[in-house]
Amino acid sequence: MTEFWKNNPYYPVSSQYQSIFGEKVYKVPVTTVDDCPNRQGLKGMETCVFCDVWGSAAKAESLDLELQEQIIKYKAHIGQRFGAKKFLVYFQAYTNSFEKVSTLRTQFETAYDFKDVVGLVIGTRPDCLSPKVLELWEEFHQRRHVFVELGVQSFSNRDLEFLKRGHTAEQSIKAVHRIHKNTNVDIGIHLMFGNPGETDQEIIESAKICSGLPITNVKIHNLHVLKNTPLEKTYFEKKFTPIELGQYAHRVQIFLEQLRPDISVHRLAAFASRWDELVAPKWTKDKMKTHQFIVDFMKSNKSQQGLLYTEQT
Ligand code: SF4
Repeated sequence: MTEFWKNNPYYPVSSQYQSIFGEKVYKVPVTTVDDCPNRQGLKGMETCVFCDVWGSAAKAESLDLELQEQIIKYKAHIGQRFGAKKFLVYFQAYTNSFEKVSTLRTQFETAYDFKDVVGLVIGTRPDCLSPKVLELWEEFHQRRHVFVELGVQSFSNRDLEFLKRGHTAEQSIKAVHRIHKNTNVDIGIHLMFGNPGETDQEIIESAKICSGLPITNVKIHNLHVLKNTPLEKTYFEKKFTPIELGQYAHRVQIFLEQLRPDISVHRLAAFASRWDELVAPKWTKDKMKTHQFIVDFMKSNKSQQGLLYTEQT
């Protein structure tokens, strides 16, 4: 464990940001879209089973505000709370490449109008990447810094079908390589653990796949049940049991042990942005307690990220 990891058994994304920007940088989440291919039912797709009406937005109420107003409001809030001076504007909710390129360009320019915004974080899906979108990302990356976060969720097609993601694991892998080949943006992927039928071996395989990809960061979370989602119905029909905290901590550990040590990690578990919408498991309600449990679990096992990582040839 290096000092750079800030006493964590993993490489935190805050350290990656610090190494790029030379100081602490904070994300400002914004909401500019309220739709995605799944919700539109394109090509027979369905809403992802875990997705609430807010499309994973931290602050969906922001849709009532202009983008510029959102940035001013949340920058002020974060600045006051953490003494933050540099920011990344995080296009988080829904699918942020499912929009006209001209509209995306205007949004990115609005973000770059703020001198203390050092870059963008763009959340999207692996199957929603036109050549024009990639060109746009690269253009804005040349000016400041662009991070793209792909909702991969799983490298098991069984899980992806259960989650109703509407894309395959192969498409996700291809998407990462395509972005890497055509741009210099930082690529991150989101993964979910706790899917039905999931095994330790599958988690280890996922870590090995991640380690072989040209990515710089991952976000891992447990599959939790939120109100008004398809998964809520499945849960109440007793067809889905959320993963227990102990088992989840074990999965996080075995994943991180196989993960390349230079891939930064955003967070260790899911957190419901609107706490009153969480149905199960209850242990995700306390963000700090859950985080500490997993960190303590790994430390007590003398485990850390990359412990079992071996470079694949
Ligand atoms: S998780 Fe993303 S892709 Fe899936 S339904 Fe929600 S907004 Fe759409």
